[in-house]
Amino acid sequence: MLAFGEKAFRARQIEEWLWKKSGTSFDEMTNLSLEVRDHLKSNFAINAITVEKTQISADQTIKSAFKLHDDHLIEGVLIPADDRMTACVSSQVGCSLTCKFCATGYMDRKRNLDAAEIYDQVVAIRNQAEEHYNKPLTNIVFMGMGEPLLNYANVLQSIEHITSPKELGMSPRRITVSTAGIAKMIKQLADDEVKFRLALSLHAANDIKRNQIMPINETNSLKNLKEALQYFYKKTKSRLTFEYIVFNNFNDSLEDAEELFRFTKQVPSKVNIIEYNPISEADFTNTDEDRLQKFSTFLEDRGVNVHVRHSRGKDIDAACGQLANK
Ligand code: SF4
Repeated sequence: MLAFGEKAFRARQIEEWLWKKSGTSFDEMTNLSLEVRDHLKSNFAINAITVEKTQISADQTIKSAFKLHDDHLIEGVLIPADDRMTACVSSQVGCSLTCKFCATGYMDRKRNLDAAEIYDQVVAIRNQAEEHYNKPLTNIVFMGMGEPLLNYANVLQSIEHITSPKELGMSPRRITVSTAGIAKMIKQLADDEVKFRLALSLHAANDIKRNQIMPINETNSLKNLKEALQYFYKKTKSRLTFEYIVFNNFNDSLEDAEELFRFTKQVPSKVNIIEYNPISEADFTNTDEDRLQKFSTFLEDRGVNVHVRHSRGKDIDAACGQLANK
């Protein structure tokens, strides 16, 4: 703005339009002169994401396909509950990891999302919460498409915007970043003393089984992850969440529960046991209710903080592991 012969505060006005007001065109910026707006239009572009398609599940979950400026599609989900409105957002177009139970893992990773594209998803889903349910967005989980810690700088920058009092002003304690387990980057989060919560998609607590379903485990073994998580807790004092999908006759026996108990007790944590959502690409099936009950009771009896999470939005392929731009 100074180079254009304008006052410096104009830059702050533009910043406010772009972030706080989520402006998608320069024409909206009516507190700027026409001349400034024309100058911006001929020299810059706002690559806002657009809602390509929305589906509403029988259980009120809303899945959206968002189109990026280069025509790539990503998906984001609004999960309404009595006490909270949660946005599940994507961090990459596709994913370079190949978790066997996840539909996104069968797509190629096309590119990382930039911080603004992640932020735009949150704003779009926040608007859906207000329009459809007349409630504010309360929580954000980075559990959509992609591995957030392989898009580290953009994810952290998006969270800075989401939490900035000058922008969305959400509490970092209401944001959870979920990783498939990149030990080096978990240590980086600790060194950066992040204030948001961290979840690890564990799904098996022995290396042989975990290698079979999550090839990233071959280079990030459970021993490495344990060290990284202990380091993270030491630095941040933030309790971990372990996500554990129960697959029928794969990781749902009481021996598996014992291994899970031993792994999770090494760091202050809670465990979310998640119902599996079948995808056409894989042969896994969901555990029956009886085995699930025994599994969770085994953990509870040993003092583990366990929550069983039944999936939402299955009928529109919006549930955990089902995002694949269908
Ligand atoms: S579970 Fe996450 S990290 Fe694994 S393939 Fe799916 S999107 Fe990628």
